[in-house]
Amino acid sequence: MGYNAPMKKIEISSVATLPTRYGEFKIQAFKEGCKEHLALFTDPLPEAPLVRVHSECLTGDALGSLKCDCGEQLDAALRKIAAEGGMLIYHRQEGRNIGLLNKVNAYALQDQGLDTVEANHQLGFAADERTYEIVEAILEHFGIRRMRLLTNNPKKIESLRHVEILERVPLQIEPNPHNARYLQIKKEQLGHLL
Ligand SMILES: [Zn+2]
Repeated sequence: MGYNAPMKKIEISSVATLPTRYGEFKIQAFKEGCKEHLALFTDPLPEAPLVRVHSECLTGDALGSLKCDCGEQLDAALRKIAAEGGMLIYHRQEGRNIGLLNKVNAYALQDQGLDTVEANHQLGFAADERTYEIVEAILEHFGIRRMRLLTNNPKKIESLRHVEILERVPLQIEPNPHNARYLQIKKEQLGHLL
């Protein structure tokens, strides 16, 4: 797997301006098969930009779900990137890449007392099914070779093998009563540094 593996053909959009409540970004879309990913970035990009690879979570990002910390992480990341210069890659691998339907099934199992990892296993998935080839292709497209990575997940650092990561910048979110157990599992079983 990885960089030299044959990639699906990637279709790349034009660059457009996206004013947001965080500041003004440029936006570009990358289509890989049926999945469409986004890069949101400041112009100009610093030589070693602050980069966040954000995995899509529709319920947390757009619907205000308190079951996870995704929405708050997205908000904090965009604020920091607007201030310091950098890029957010919106990686469309919903539910750690099991898709929305399976994620809702996993939530139903969690309602019965299973944790996030146990629920994924019961549905026949690994705890984390994400892959990062498209992320490396996007970084390559922008000529990014060195960056500061905004993440709590050390596995993400290992997954991005073709760029130099100068610094891991943590993203600290205050737990709420609904996501405290989820954050604990992320820390204990998925190796996140929280
Ligand atoms: Zn989430």
